[in-house]
Amino acid sequence: MSDAPQQVIRFHYSVAEVGQAPIEDSRKNGQPITMLTGVGGIIPGLEKALVGKAAGARFEVTVPAAEAYGERNEAAIQRVPKKHFPNGVSLRPGLTVMLPTQHGPRPVTVLKVGMSVVDCDLNHPMAGKDLAFAIEIVEVRAASAEEIAHGHAHGEGGHHH
Ligand code: ZN
Repeated sequence: MSDAPQQVIRFHYSVAEVGQAPIEDSRKNGQPITMLTGVGGIIPGLEKALVGKAAGARFEVTVPAAEAYGERNEAAIQRVPKKHFPNGVSLRPGLTVMLPTQHGPRPVTVLKVGMSVVDCDLNHPMAGKDLAFAIEIVEVRAASAEEIAHGHAHGEGGHHH
């Protein structure tokens, strides 16, 4: 974390694997993303690119995997008993499922389905991928003392208590 004053940044984004069609586009949901800087709320390479920009700025930035969702870890392929998967999910190779873990739900990719076990890739689906973002900054303002204390943004697009 840097010593820079914390800010609240609202922005629209689309993200694609480099050279591919966009995977997500915030305009499809209508509302820009609201984030508080300095709390690790978004991938580090994107936060680095957002900080210091002014409202109205539009730019593209490529974030290497190491500053996005990390490099792939080939050791993160595991055989998981079927009973750990949510009921009613029809498991097939390539499917991404939210698997409950002791660290909370996390997305895993199904590789192979056996009788009682499932081979899974526990890497984040975006791990190992360089990501191309197109950004439009909607608003930049100083974070309030309350937002800094809570560790999240309030107001439009932020947390409501
Ligand atoms: Zn709060």
